[in-house]
Amino acid sequence: MDNNIIENIVKTAHHIYNKDMIIGKAGNISIIDKKREYIYITASGTDFKSLKYSDIIKVKLDDLSYVSNDEKVPSMETSLHIGVYINRNDVNSVVHVHSPYATAFAFSNKRLRQQEGFGEITGEYIAEVEYYTPGSKKLALHTSNALKEEDAVLLKNHGVITVGKDIDEATLLCEYIEGIAKTQYITHTLNL
Ligand SMILES: [Zn+2]
Repeated sequence: MDNNIIENIVKTAHHIYNKDMIIGKAGNISIIDKKREYIYITASGTDFKSLKYSDIIKVKLDDLSYVSNDEKVPSMETSLHIGVYINRNDVNSVVHVHSPYATAFAFSNKRLRQQEGFGEITGEYIAEVEYYTPGSKKLALHTSNALKEEDAVLLKNHGVITVGKDIDEATLLCEYIEGIAKTQYITHTLNL
């Protein structure tokens, strides 16, 4: 087990909780190892507030096998994370949250506009993936496909997922998406 990777995930989970970017036991975080043979991912149904080292599960990329000491299982979105790593050699971390403002856009009929503040603006809106059941093969396939071209997408009626060259970049992108969603929500409200 790589303790640095695990420590990074635990710290990030606590940060995400403290930033109010997660609700209940939703959300998942992963990092791929240097050889791209294993991913380290949060266990299913974990509480980010009290996430600990034993809540991170090492999963083999090619056959999804894992060892768990205490009956924990990897996140239900493990196939989605692995699909992203297979499609993107430049991505080393995937972060999925249900941050309130960005998720509100994902539930609404309003699109979230791209905005200055993180990388180049490539289009008018943040990309969206249609709703598919969480944990489903369809959600994994459509989301990993969308993330071939994008570093952040909104999952309709669900939440946000971002990728990065490392966990800090993917997390900062989640914060950025939440920040622009908050600004645009306030703007819509002022314009009412
Ligand atoms: Zn989710």
